[in-house]
Amino acid sequence: MSLKDLLAARIRQSGPISVADYMADCLMHPEHGYYATRDPLGVAGDFTTAPEISQMFGELIGLALAQTWLDQDRLAPFSLAELGPGRGTLMADALRAAARVPGFAEAARLVLVEASPVLRAAQATALESHSPVWANSLGDLPDRPLFLIANEFFDALPLRQFERGDTGWRERRIGLDGDSLIFGLGGETEVPALTHRLEDTRPGDLVELCPAGLAIAAEAGRRIARQGGAALIIDYGDWRSLGDTLQAVQGHKPVGVLDDPGEADLTAHVDFEALALAAAEPGGAYSRLTPQGVFLERLGITQRAQALAAAHGGSSQAEVAAAHRRLTHPAEMGNLFKVLGLFPQGAAPPPGLNT
Ligand code: SAH
Repeated sequence: MSLKDLLAARIRQSGPISVADYMADCLMHPEHGYYATRDPLGVAGDFTTAPEISQMFGELIGLALAQTWLDQDRLAPFSLAELGPGRGTLMADALRAAARVPGFAEAARLVLVEASPVLRAAQATALESHSPVWANSLGDLPDRPLFLIANEFFDALPLRQFERGDTGWRERRIGLDGDSLIFGLGGETEVPALTHRLEDTRPGDLVELCPAGLAIAAEAGRRIARQGGAALIIDYGDWRSLGDTLQAVQGHKPVGVLDDPGEADLTAHVDFEALALAAAEPGGAYSRLTPQGVFLERLGITQRAQALAAAHGGSSQAEVAAAHRRLTHPAEMGNLFKVLGLFPQGAAPPPGLNT
């Protein structure tokens, strides 16, 4: 039975499902889930991420975290954790660059939060020499300082969508028309988590809420505020998002969200304001948001690109220049992608973030 048949049977039995339930099954169903059953990254896969474009990305993130660790007086031991590490490329590049900072690698305990067995296997190969351990959530980590990386992780978490009514919200649901999956709306209800959105929306507007992302940001903020450390959360999105940003991608091309459940990547833009507020919950972490292009320029990506090009020469010079452009140019990833830094009150923010 295909995932579409399983979803249709479920809807026939107990009624329409939320967008979050649909996303969760499409991405992580143990037999049919998109991430659970394949490595989707790279040219041959469905999409390419920043660390797969160039080693410069992971190197600069690694150096930014190592500098933050120095600024916080070399806390030891600490958890060096990544959420959704993909193939482990970013972390391998980060650790290679941070090896120049004496004591950092020795104090780090590497923890990878990954749900996909296929990607856990890829990470085990890429990071073998760093003895990683895997966890199902941040809550499973021991109480220690936390230095955390998440690139294109929050965009893959199941989110709920709501259409603004006169006084409340109607949740967008997925039901059936014959054998086809279709979008519909539930009845109007109050949604306490969206009360502040009554200010900037009008009836008919659509807003998104990512309960899983908020819970993870709150956990990270609490740990960083209490034990020390920092987080660098990189993703596409805005300070406050409005409208339907759910999208499906297959073979590097956009496809319909309901077309082929489990066979396409499903993501949504990240609402960084919501993450920052969750991370700041009483006694939580401070935050700063900066566009990716500005962040990488401040960390010296141009100098690093020049050094790499000089070392390799020939056709790889053009490759390095193209990667630099893709990661930083405002018309490519430079502006759409943002970096949210979390850090304890009174500590210096990670380098590269706006004041
Ligand atoms: N950070 C990597 C991969 C991004 S793809 C990169 O930049 O290349 C999203 C990653 O998050 C994958 O590793 C996927 O398996 C993982 N992931 C998605 N949802 C998850 C969840 N709920 N729990 C743990 N990992 C998850």
